[in-house]
Amino acid sequence: MDNLKEIVARCEELAFDLSFTRAREWKSQGKDRVVVGHMPIYFPREIIHAANGLAVGILGGGDKKLIIKGDAYYQSYICHMPRSIIELALDRHFEDFDGFIFPSICDVIRNLSGMFQILGQGKFVKYLDFPQNFKSHVGGTFYRYELQTVLDEIFKLNGVAVTAERLNHSIGLFNLNRSLITQIYDLRQQFPWRMTAADLYHVVRAGYVIPVEEHNEILSSVLQLLSKENGAPMDKIRVLVMGAFCEQPPAGLIRTIELAGCYIVEDDFLLGARWIQGDVDTSTDDPLNAITEAYLVKSTFSSSVYDVGNPKEARLLKLIHERKVDGVIFAAPSFCDPALLDHPILQKECNDKQIRFISFLYSENTGQFKVIKEQVGTFSDSIKLWD
Ligand code: SF4
Repeated sequence: MDNLKEIVARCEELAFDLSFTRAREWKSQGKDRVVVGHMPIYFPREIIHAANGLAVGILGGGDKKLIIKGDAYYQSYICHMPRSIIELALDRHFEDFDGFIFPSICDVIRNLSGMFQILGQGKFVKYLDFPQNFKSHVGGTFYRYELQTVLDEIFKLNGVAVTAERLNHSIGLFNLNRSLITQIYDLRQQFPWRMTAADLYHVVRAGYVIPVEEHNEILSSVLQLLSKENGAPMDKIRVLVMGAFCEQPPAGLIRTIELAGCYIVEDDFLLGARWIQGDVDTSTDDPLNAITEAYLVKSTFSSSVYDVGNPKEARLLKLIHERKVDGVIFAAPSFCDPALLDHPILQKECNDKQIRFISFLYSENTGQFKVIKEQVGTFSDSIKLWD
């Protein structure tokens, strides 16, 4: 595919294929292949790849799945995504999945992992505790042990031993994947009119459900196409969208923000795909340790990570300056404790530094964008007219 529109259309189809067709096809092509689902935000997919597996990101049903049974599993005052994931599970969308990883983000995800166990989903369900201690000999040792338990589960299923050579190869592929995404973000923040934020979102999200080798080819094509001029700049403000790292906003909401007079030049959608900042070392004979160290020292900032000593408000400010942002849009899923507990801290920092911001809540299935369009449009106009 050498046309950007075609690539984006294919990625959109893949990204929202709730039957996970490509993952099923891939699995059917080898008898020791396994498919492992993982929830947001971050999970080192390299280790599944090295064990002859495909790690598939489970990001909820978005606005494509009607929730009927899922509501019975959760009280009304929690976010939407776990309800749609339960609905998908009960409707057997994950039938060919061998296992599930629930990275520790919040209590809701912890409870969801328990529900998957009770419902007998897959052959293993792992609640993966991420360390909140960033010393190698404490948090690093613990995290490495957690990752090894995932590999042990897969070994029980397919008997594939993960050698240093295999894991280094897999790490290299994901290093390339992150690097290509970073290059696309860097290019797009210079020339945001060349590709909409929603199109970029679809391209990155497709990578959650297909083999990394295929996604790297897609990203390389996109990067090449974006390096040529395409379109012309419009009179829009540059914004950073913050708070959407777990339950994803509907694509219509991302489009609405840009249609209301903004270029989204930075965001935390699909943050897991960009979690590690830079490369994981591939030159060592202990690559599991390299993955562990990368998490400890190269993680981006997020509401799910303890940040004493490296406060996220300072990291947000750095990003605002790097991306030459005119304003910040705090967009969080309704009832998302991690995001909403952080927003007052981040907003105070914006206030203190006289950085304009607005905030609103959404759900993955929000369908009415009129109010948001008016709010964002007013924000954009006020910055254009009076800043
Ligand atoms: S959206 Fe927020 S509250 Fe809901 S599962 Fe994700 S982190 Fe937890």
